[in-house]
Amino acid sequence: MCGKAHAQVYCEIDTLAAANQEILIEPYRTQNYSNYSFCVRIYVHVIRKSSHMGGQSPSDVSLALSYLDTAFNPHNIYFVWDHQIDYIDDDSEFYSPGASVFDINNHPDGVDIYMYDDSVGFLGWDGYGTSSQPKTAFLVSGFMEDPVTLQTYPLVKSHILSHEMGHVLSLWHTHHGTGENTQQDPYECPEFADGSNSAICGDYITDTPADPDMNYKVDFATCQWLESGFDGNGDPDDPNDPGDPYDPDEHNIMGHSVVPCMSYLTPKQGNRMKVAMTIIPALTAVSNYTLSGYPCATAGLNFYPNAMDGELNLDLREKPANTYPYQIFDAYGVMVLSGESQNVLKTIDTSGLDEGLYFLHFYDNGQLTIKQLLVEH
Ligand SMILES: [Zn+2]
Ligand SMILES: [Zn+2]
Repeated sequence: MCGKAHAQVYCEIDTLAAANQEILIEPYRTQNYSNYSFCVRIYVHVIRKSSHMGGQSPSDVSLALSYLDTAFNPHNIYFVWDHQIDYIDDDSEFYSPGASVFDINNHPDGVDIYMYDDSVGFLGWDGYGTSSQPKTAFLVSGFMEDPVTLQTYPLVKSHILSHEMGHVLSLWHTHHGTGENTQQDPYECPEFADGSNSAICGDYITDTPADPDMNYKVDFATCQWLESGFDGNGDPDDPNDPGDPYDPDEHNIMGHSVVPCMSYLTPKQGNRMKVAMTIIPALTAVSNYTLSGYPCATAGLNFYPNAMDGELNLDLREKPANTYPYQIFDAYGVMVLSGESQNVLKTIDTSGLDEGLYFLHFYDNGQLTIKQLLVEH
């Protein structure tokens, strides 16, 4: 334990996968989804010892998920959970957190959250978080310690959970491109402190300031970044001009700040996640969105297969008796099919549709839910 920076957390993201997603997102970075509400399905796994001991209790899980609501609901991103906890009781998993756990009981239609014990770190680190967007999964483990007061903060019950969810939903660190070079993202470049290139460099988010990577060097009590630096954007002919001083946001959840200071995501970060949820295949599979009302109240809307060929089965048998209008739009916004169904298994003929991306608009008591559909013949 000696000589170790107690406040540090090891956070790794699958940068190759994330970089590939950036190629998809780049043309749509400025699309505005601020008026839309999104719903993300989540699944909770708790890792315990083989003896069924240790790990997060059900009330711990509720507290943990409340951090997600605090971070994401202000951006009209909501979560739906079946209130089931999947217990993985295995000493070898319990004591050595790692991304291999993402293959245990993973769901393709939701973000799988693997919650480890508060006491279990990773290698020499006290705390650990890692995420995979292709598997729409992340894990959080261990704790963070204030080096001044020696108070410890369990990471599962903190915005580290929100931080990892942010990565799954396509957020980079606030220091991406500036203090973090993945060598994988073809667009990455340092963000200047004056904001002049914030749309195309750094984290590609214009309402987060340039961040050279705070590296957890933040005072737990005052939330002040304890170091300083310049962005190098000075007069190239003046060796005494180091550029502008960095002023990173210690409260942003996607920075490497300390747990009691991490508190929000910005509106532009919220919008970027929504953009990603409309175009990244792994994310469209775990989310849906709507222009009106609360987007998670869509229980009982089932449809298959997707991709479809000659027919689409709209299975509304879990819904209450009612008449449910639906429409199918192509990728250009042209309505190609419409109809309505009772709460039955309805088969819709799609043999006349060209191959490609479509959108199912489904109305439940006037509330619109939009789902992505693929046609492949
Ligand atoms: Zn991270
Ligand atoms: Zn930024």
